[in-house]
Amino acid sequence: MATEEYIDNESDFIKSTDKNPSNILPEKLTLSSHLQFACHPGVSCFTACCHNIKIILTPYDILILRKRLNIPAHEFITEYTEPAYLEKTDMPGVQLKLRGEKNGCPFVTPEGCTVYSDRPSACRYYPVGMADFHEGGTNDASEEKFFFLVKEPHCKGHEEPKHWTIGEWRADQGVDLRDEMNKEWLRLVMRRKSFGLQATLSEAAKRMFFMASTDLDTFRKFIFESSFLDTYEMDADTLAKIKEDDVELMLFSFKYLANTLFGAPGLTIKEDKIKAKVEEIKKRQDEALLAAEREYEELKAERDRMLKERQEREAAARKKQADS
Ligand code: SF4
Ligand code: SF4
Repeated sequence: MATEEYIDNESDFIKSTDKNPSNILPEKLTLSSHLQFACHPGVSCFTACCHNIKIILTPYDILILRKRLNIPAHEFITEYTEPAYLEKTDMPGVQLKLRGEKNGCPFVTPEGCTVYSDRPSACRYYPVGMADFHEGGTNDASEEKFFFLVKEPHCKGHEEPKHWTIGEWRADQGVDLRDEMNKEWLRLVMRRKSFGLQATLSEAAKRMFFMASTDLDTFRKFIFESSFLDTYEMDADTLAKIKEDDVELMLFSFKYLANTLFGAPGLTIKEDKIKAKVEEIKKRQDEALLAAEREYEELKAERDRMLKERQEREAAARKKQADS
């Protein structure tokens, strides 16, 4: 089953979650490392890890779950999630909203997970975490990936006599696709994290990040019904894809966010928009220059006035002295 073992690229990802970092075994594992583990309805702890947990949802998780439930994104977000900040940043996201006396996942039943084949990414990784280093979320090719095992006392899956390699386990859990789908989104979060909180992200930027990350229906409207298409160069092929295909739209949203939030390449603003912007800036600069000149002239006039007053006072004083 699951718990929150979503993977960070700076090794402290797990530490930043609510879920017991001390249970990470201090050993770097590879895809061929050995794993003894099984999770099935026969384990005494079955569904224990689906309660009192924090499961952050990625955009792909949201897309797949709301399709599974056959409801629009906004309904899924309202009904099944609550707001959460991502990775101790100010990036807004969502986590599954726990329910009931046992504080359980909305999809857990005594028989197990009701959305198992579409369960979130975090539920698939457990108990094998992955550290993925790529310098502050850049596209640097010199990435280093390794795996690690989380062994919590309540999880009896480690006592089961099933043996795998890490690679076999990951293939069984379907995490490769999730890695691929979540990669660029996680990089956005890690980029934000690497900038530190002293670098501010505007409220508008946060709103855009949240909207694009959680509600692709609205993001699609933004692309096709706002001034977006007047502003950006978009080829017909990309437009056709993102109009129909939710996954293509999601991947495009990551590109758009990387470009607008962090200045990453990938999107081009139309020439006439750039010219208009340059004119606008120039106009603002001209206006600022005129205002500064006006202010200078006013100060100068005031200084001249005071100087003249002083000279008049001094002349009057001299005359008075001469008369006396
Ligand atoms: S989605 Fe399924 S596997 Fe994940 S916590 Fe909920 S019930 Fe458990
Ligand atoms: S074996 Fe581990 S993963 Fe499976 S239900 Fe028990 S606690 Fe959860």
